[in-house]
Amino acid sequence: MGRIKILDETVSNIIAAGEVVENPASMIKELLENSLDAGSSAIRIEVRNSGRDVTISDNGVGMSQDDLFLSIERHATSKIFTKDDIFNLHTYGFRGEALASIASVSKVKLSSKREEDEGGNSITVLGGKVTSHKERSMNRGTEIEVRELFFNTPARLKFLRKKGTEYAKIKEIVLKEALVSPEVAFTLYLDGREVIKTSGRGMQNTILELFNKNTLKNLVEFPLGYLGNLELTRATRDHIYTYVNGRYVKSALLEKAVIDGYYTKLTKGRYPFVIIFLQIDPHEVDVNVHPSKKVVKFSEGNTIYEEVLERIKEVMEEDEEIVSPVLTT
Ligand code: ADP
Ligand code: MG
Repeated sequence: MGRIKILDETVSNIIAAGEVVENPASMIKELLENSLDAGSSAIRIEVRNSGRDVTISDNGVGMSQDDLFLSIERHATSKIFTKDDIFNLHTYGFRGEALASIASVSKVKLSSKREEDEGGNSITVLGGKVTSHKERSMNRGTEIEVRELFFNTPARLKFLRKKGTEYAKIKEIVLKEALVSPEVAFTLYLDGREVIKTSGRGMQNTILELFNKNTLKNLVEFPLGYLGNLELTRATRDHIYTYVNGRYVKSALLEKAVIDGYYTKLTKGRYPFVIIFLQIDPHEVDVNVHPSKKVVKFSEGNTIYEEVLERIKEVMEEDEEIVSPVLTT
């Protein structure tokens, strides 16, 4: 007898969960993306217990009873079917791993209703297994209640930071998703306190709602997004928001292009407020590098760098307001 065994499903799901669900914020990101993929126009997020208890409800397309049961299985997805689809993604999700992972490390209640169904369905899942099923009267959409995240993975639980730190990460994730979906109304409650509320009424309103009046008034629109004037510079790069095909990405290449674009306008150690939405041929960008999908690989990195750099330089050279802030009130 050899010593190698194939891991049973429960164990392999928990291991996968280690990659997809690093902390409450990364779990919330996955759930938000599911709601967005489902075409929701309103998403409500309630967080308690340092992020271990989370309820997300949306008004998206919902799931049939069969799909509800399937949704928590590993590699169960309605979003891709063939390997070609991987390089032609139009959705955030595609691995079919998020719900299986989340359900394997928490106590989940999942409810959903489609437009065409009379009533909805609700299942409870414990350690990845469905433990009960009920019919439920509800509006169209999906609600997922996660309780006691990491209850069965003590090591991971130990890695949770203190409440304030986890809440800050959650707020940042929701902000980044809300910023790129200005047609969707987001509400985030932390321990019952409303900390983010967008109305889903377009980009300018969303910027106003996520930041403030001062931010909006010191931004210049340009072909790739928005550039802040010198009034909005900060000591960190935290306000360089870059998106590729609707996905927030952290990219050294894009950050460099931005900073080089502002060039001498920036004083040393100061970074601009920038929002950039890039559309790139899906064949030229690989989001498959890491399960969190935050890391991307560009096949034409140089071209993208040049494009971003040039567009920003144009604004720096032409638009006086970018160097001398608008002082209207
Ligand atoms: P993926 O998003 O990669 O497909 P998930 O595990 O996140 O994998 O979700 C599995 C499936 O469950 C999705 O493909 C989708 O069909 C369904 N699903 C999950 N969340 C929702 C939701 N909020 N509304 C409608 N369907 C959902
Ligand atoms: Mg998903």
